[in-house]
Amino acid sequence: MNGGPTTEVINCPFCSGPESEYWTKENGFTAVKCSDCGLVYVNPRPIATLIDEAVKTGVHSDVDHGRTAIVRRAASNVRVYEKIFSSMYSDVWERTTPISWLDIGAGYGEVIEAVANLAPQGSTIEGLEPMEPKRNAARKRGLAMREGYLSDVKSRYDFVSLVNVYSHIPNFHEFLKDLKKVLSVGGEFFVETGNIGDLDAREVPSELDLPDHLVFAGEKNIEDYLTNAGFEIIEFRRRRKDGVINFAKNIGKKMIGRQVNLTLPYTSRYRSIMIRAALT
Ligand SMILES: [Zn+2]
Repeated sequence: MNGGPTTEVINCPFCSGPESEYWTKENGFTAVKCSDCGLVYVNPRPIATLIDEAVKTGVHSDVDHGRTAIVRRAASNVRVYEKIFSSMYSDVWERTTPISWLDIGAGYGEVIEAVANLAPQGSTIEGLEPMEPKRNAARKRGLAMREGYLSDVKSRYDFVSLVNVYSHIPNFHEFLKDLKKVLSVGGEFFVETGNIGDLDAREVPSELDLPDHLVFAGEKNIEDYLTNAGFEIIEFRRRRKDGVINFAKNIGKKMIGRQVNLTLPYTSRYRSIMIRAALT
């Protein structure tokens, strides 16, 4: 940077409301809660060019210790999403006609691998991933990966998914506009994100990864985003993530000095929200 400002003060990314109250602090960034709609968001947030740089490289040059967001492939997620999609889209898998599916922020491709295992033969299953090392690792596994952002995509898809990526997106209204341009007539959208906007800061199970994560929605925020943009919600599911296995993992993380809120299994209000919605 050439000495210019690295952050900017913003209004609420959902309702444009200027009023907010302090919610929490992490990595030198503050998250606030919108007084009008309840959305939790980083404010001030890194300027757009820095957000973009971090998305492509996984590194924040503006955060002191050059944190990295490059995590590893999680093979077990292929089975997890196969199970979820197998039941949420059973009507789709019963069809014999090929489908097209694009997963946005596909990472190492676990989600598209799951979809490919379920989809009818001849289907087009692709991932979109701006971070090169992840994209290349997925390609080496034989997965079809596209480079760049949703706004660069010119083809159309029957299904688009966004799994645990929502919090990275600076302006979800803009994202939904771009999404509508790539969905086929009657196309569908799947979104999964945590219900962190509905929790108190002290209830959050682990690190928030500010400022990689810029926004945290509650259930109503996500529903309103979608219905305002002309989507009809077909199915809404909540998934617990505070089972015994996660509890054990969190003890491990705590032992290596990570910031983890240890709560007893099955007592947390934290849920992963999963929505299947159709463009009407
Ligand atoms: Zn708001």
